[in-house]
Amino acid sequence: MKCPYCKKEMELGFIQSPQEISWKKGDKRPLLGRAQFHEGSVILSELSFLKGAAVTAFLCRECKKVIIEYSDENSDFNQR
Ligand SMILES: [Zn+2]
Repeated sequence: MKCPYCKKEMELGFIQSPQEISWKKGDKRPLLGRAQFHEGSVILSELSFLKGAAVTAFLCRECKKVIIEYSDENSDFNQR
């Protein structure tokens, strides 16, 4: 994937967590809690008790950006 800012090739990797990985709406840091309790949230990786949660992510070190394409079901390691 090309970086949308500098157009250079991004590095493929992943982000993992011992908790569900989700995007939550708003600019205030919510209390910890699962996405299902936050309106408008998007679950990027469901939690697996054995594997944790992980999503494919592309990194640009130059622009300090990370992109997670969540429409791609291959992004969520637990959906594979
Ligand atoms: Zn870049």
